[in-house]
Amino acid sequence: MAKANLDGNPITPLSICMIGGGGFIGSHLCEKLMSETSHIAIVVDVSSEKINHLLDKSLPWAKRIEFHHMNIKNDSRLETLVKASDLTINLAAICTPADYNTRPLDTIFSNFIDAIPVIKFCTENNKRLIHFSTCEVFGKTIGSFLPEEYRKEPQYYMLKEDVSPCIFGPVHKQRWSYACAKQMTDRLIYAEHAENGLKFTIVRPYNWIGPRMDFIPGVDGPSDGVPRVLACFSNNLLRGEPLKLVDGGRSQRTFLYVKDAIEAVLLMIDNPNRANGHIFNVGNPDNEVSVKQLAELMIKVYAKVADVPASSLSTLDVTSEDFYGKGYDDSDRRIPDMTIITKQLGWKPRTSLDELLDSTLQYQHQTYSHAIKKELSNPST
Ligand code: NAD
Ligand code: UDP
Repeated sequence: MAKANLDGNPITPLSICMIGGGGFIGSHLCEKLMSETSHIAIVVDVSSEKINHLLDKSLPWAKRIEFHHMNIKNDSRLETLVKASDLTINLAAICTPADYNTRPLDTIFSNFIDAIPVIKFCTENNKRLIHFSTCEVFGKTIGSFLPEEYRKEPQYYMLKEDVSPCIFGPVHKQRWSYACAKQMTDRLIYAEHAENGLKFTIVRPYNWIGPRMDFIPGVDGPSDGVPRVLACFSNNLLRGEPLKLVDGGRSQRTFLYVKDAIEAVLLMIDNPNRANGHIFNVGNPDNEVSVKQLAELMIKVYAKVADVPASSLSTLDVTSEDFYGKGYDDSDRRIPDMTIITKQLGWKPRTSLDELLDSTLQYQHQTYSHAIKKELSNPST
């Protein structure tokens, strides 16, 4: 018997075109779709590295997943794939902060210009779109501009999809090129919905983390590359070097385990009547820490996982200009208001920060420690 959705209606198998489906989030979504649903994944990406384990022809779901090696900037096959699918999920993006101020043109093109044809194909062919935006569209909190005593009041820090303003720094602070491009794409989608009836859902991820996030510099990514904070700190821990705290690590983030997050995305896929026309914050407001606290927690957890003394691991303060270069700026705090996703989809995050760091750092240690030990014992290769 077919599974039922939240309204008790049977879930019919969909063909889902997943653009950027070979990345961190896409790989977890593909795993879920293959192991727990009957949906078909048509994955489009420039790399299949993170989903190769799902593409083996002997696997039971082999007929339900296909990979198209494609750069969406210049490939006319994209429209055919969108047309052939029931739903398009767009995850493709440059989304590592180290790129925002150093490669602002690539960042803007990737997050705005390259999304335009995807939106157009969905509108013109009457196809549903789930688009990945970001919590960063909110920029800085109102509280960050107010005296300390106001910052404790939720109205000055809580980020609400339908109420909060988007507050970015000036143009020369190129950090905001990503947030601004993402916001413009959100606005284009919303306008296509308002004027041309596009059926859309916008997802705002709040620091989803877990296995396969980004890369470890020098192992499966460039040795001078700077990934997001989980991979930066994992790299430092694996190499036994200090974890670098940008501007003292005072910024605050809420971290959500990617496997919890994927449950929310699946609810959106299977409940179009509840998800269409909505923008959803998807985060875990209970998992808030400063970046400094995150580093301390990761040291504690990694010491246990790798069986090394925590006293051998440390942190080091660095300036944002030294770490990221000119034009960097930061979001001070990101707490998602959960009203809309709770009401529409009844979704709640489940995994605490301790638990998610434990499983993620076990994965990082098992996956990378051998390669790093080899590299460190033979530095010339
Ligand atoms: P990711 O970098 O792992 O995945 C993005 C994928 O898109 C990559 O596999 C990349 O190869 C692919 N891609 C980029 N440009 C492409 C192109 N021109 N043609 C084909 N493929 C292309 O990042 P992720 O963490 O999985 O993020 C997915 C989406 O979620 C992005 O839109 C990102 O902005 C958004 N997001 C994620 C987070 C998070 O917490 N992970 C937070 C905010 C927003
Ligand atoms: N950060 C840090 N050290 C690092 C990498 C990142 O202190 O090695 C900080 C960064 O300045 C930001 C936070 O960690 O305040 C989260 O950074 P991330 O790259 O994960 O993305 P963001 O949440 O800013 O989008």
